[in-house]
Amino acid sequence: MISTRIGRLELSPTLRINAKAKAMMAEGIDVIDFSVGEPDFPTPSPIKEAGKKAIDDNFTGYTATDGIPELKQAIKARLKEDHGLEYHKSEIIVGTGGKQCLYNLFASILEVGDEVIIPAPYWVSYPQQVLMCDGKPVFVRTREENGFRLTPEELKARLNFNTKAVIINNPSNPTGAAYSREELEKLCEIAVNEGLYIVADEIYAKVIYGGYQFHSIPSLSPKIKNKTILVSGVSKSYSMTGWRIGYAAGPREIIAAMNIIQSHTTSNATSIAQKAAVEALAGQQSEINQMVAEFNARRNYMLSKLKRIPNVHCYEPQGAFYLFPNVSAYYNTEHGGMKIRNSYGLAYYLLKEAAVAVVPGSAFGSDENIRFSYATSMEKIEEGTDRVVAAMARLTESPTFKRVALQNVMTHPKKTVETKTDISVDERDALVHEAEAALPFDRYFEWNANINGIIIQLRTNDPHLYDFWVENWYPAQLESDLEPHGIIYAVTGVAGRQPYAYYNPDMKTAVIFNSNFYGQVRNWALAMAAHASERMLDVHGIRAACVDIKGHGLALMGPKGLKRGSTFMRFMEDGDVGFVTNDWMFVRYRGSEAIADAPERKFYFRTSIAQKFPRYARIFDRSKCENVVTSRAEWTNMKELGDECPLDMGDPYCYWGSDESRALVDPAWINGPHRCVKRSRIKTVIFMYYEPNAPAVEKFSPQDALEFVTAGQYRTPDGAGMSPFKKQPFFNPYRLTATVDDDDLQRRNFHQLFRVAKAFKVNIAAIPSEALKARIRDLIG
Ligand code: PMP
Repeated sequence: MISTRIGRLELSPTLRINAKAKAMMAEGIDVIDFSVGEPDFPTPSPIKEAGKKAIDDNFTGYTATDGIPELKQAIKARLKEDHGLEYHKSEIIVGTGGKQCLYNLFASILEVGDEVIIPAPYWVSYPQQVLMCDGKPVFVRTREENGFRLTPEELKARLNFNTKAVIINNPSNPTGAAYSREELEKLCEIAVNEGLYIVADEIYAKVIYGGYQFHSIPSLSPKIKNKTILVSGVSKSYSMTGWRIGYAAGPREIIAAMNIIQSHTTSNATSIAQKAAVEALAGQQSEINQMVAEFNARRNYMLSKLKRIPNVHCYEPQGAFYLFPNVSAYYNTEHGGMKIRNSYGLAYYLLKEAAVAVVPGSAFGSDENIRFSYATSMEKIEEGTDRVVAAMARLTESPTFKRVALQNVMTHPKKTVETKTDISVDERDALVHEAEAALPFDRYFEWNANINGIIIQLRTNDPHLYDFWVENWYPAQLESDLEPHGIIYAVTGVAGRQPYAYYNPDMKTAVIFNSNFYGQVRNWALAMAAHASERMLDVHGIRAACVDIKGHGLALMGPKGLKRGSTFMRFMEDGDVGFVTNDWMFVRYRGSEAIADAPERKFYFRTSIAQKFPRYARIFDRSKCENVVTSRAEWTNMKELGDECPLDMGDPYCYWGSDESRALVDPAWINGPHRCVKRSRIKTVIFMYYEPNAPAVEKFSPQDALEFVTAGQYRTPDGAGMSPFKKQPFFNPYRLTATVDDDDLQRRNFHQLFRVAKAFKVNIAAIPSEALKARIRDLIG
């Protein structure tokens, strides 16, 4: 498994909503986008000209890491003119956006475990950056009644010996909160007295409204300036988000440290963009006022519209270009089958129902709110807010839901462990000795499973494995009455052992150390039982799904990823189809008949099928489960999920967040006991395979079918490209032995099968998934 050190970090919900919005736009849906964090104006012409000139002048080489002297001079002059600040050039650094400056700052000042106070709601990247630098984000919830401003009492309450810095984002993204001079002084005084750094993110300093007087933190006093690192940039004020120019000003040693980090990571910010930024900061400033006047009109309009939505309240921002209404009165409502439990759910609903993109407040650490950006045209704001008002009016109350408690065990590991299947008898004896020694008498479970007449015994100290084992199989007599044909030791908590599985074919003994993943125990039990029954009873173990259609047994064979499972599930939706087995069957050949028996009492299902077949979620709710995802950190199916994981809507678990989750299902729960068939006569065998440009369906001669199953060669559709050939003789990855004898026996058995059952190749590359079942039904007539 690949492991990275960013386990605690995550892609923000913003990005997931954005991706969904973009996909809808690509489908031609007119989505109104209130999720953007950038002005909708083009970069002013003189700035663009300066950029073009830089290219024409071939100003395209590396520059000084901390920025070209001209730009540092322009920053210095701008800080002086706007806020009366005096900085030496060595106290200024130019970076690739304010974002990079912030990251370099945290990387410079934080040591492992240092705490950074972050008033919430916060800008999404602060906590993630602090985590990346081994710091600990400490959130302080600000309150709407206080204008979302951190109070001195709230700050003091969170200080301790580990506190290293406090972030003040003024004006704030996402709330638009802005501090008065007195408020800032009080907060900064505390910080200075405690020896904290003050991270002053003033990127929205110029985007302010309604007579609000902005005061830059380092201008408050020399003492405060000594502890403050001011971060700003040209993105917001000059419509230059994509140019990526930001800057920081602060104590020389810190700027020097940031410069070192930058020199080894990105070097200088883009040379051309630096020249353009000189024009932005040193040139004419009048466009900013026009832009802000326009934002103000939009802000007023949008605010009045949102405030009129019943039970929504919204703080009136003094800066930035966002509204952050509290919409929590709409949680536990529903419309058109969509239930809203939290901010992500509401954002998702607005996207689907109103084609309006907003950002869930959870991204900013405040699940009660959603964020609207008004950095978009008045026309769109009018249309978009109308849509929001109408969509919210359609929401009706939906009682808070109670769910059946999930019976779920998270296993370690979650997959088949490394395996050695040809150990000698001596090795086997030593391993059994070790396993026995690790099985305490007061935590020892033993149970005989009857797998189609073959007895496999489990000996374990793991209650989860024992529980699933007993649930999975039909019982045999108790151990004292009979010798098992095979034994599985599954022992956890063995010191000094990696998760590992061993098998000795002579003694039919498996020893599995330090894994409580049931999937492997089950597959090995079936493989051991098949091996024994083929030799002793002349009964053939086949890895296939099987349905019974009015007495006609239809077997589906093929490897993982080739629609065998989902086609089986589709057959289960038909009223004339009985459930035989979803994965393994034991077949005896008698005259012209191939009689298939299902060896399992309860069947081991991949729970992710509930995404395509929602009614299974109710069945899994009643089943014993393994590795069902209960927190976002456990997701492994990010790609397939898009933004539709029920966890985001407030559900306590998700059946399709991972491909590793399983449930043990009683087949009678699916369509009732009358649709469960324990024995069927196999008349048709379907091989699912994948081959572009090959016929959709081909009938096999018995000889060709035998060759195909023996080779077990197949391709899988793997993203855009083709995966290399994989070999899995007899379509069974769980064979524990593959000697010449074993292969001969398999061929002999399959030869019998194809004498009595018709076989077809069905090409999933040529048939859409939804049409597979109908095509297969045509074949059986
Ligand atoms: N701080 C805040 C509060 C922001 O909203 C943003 C941009 N969304 C930034 C910093 C970073 O901006 P940039 O990297 O474009 O300078």
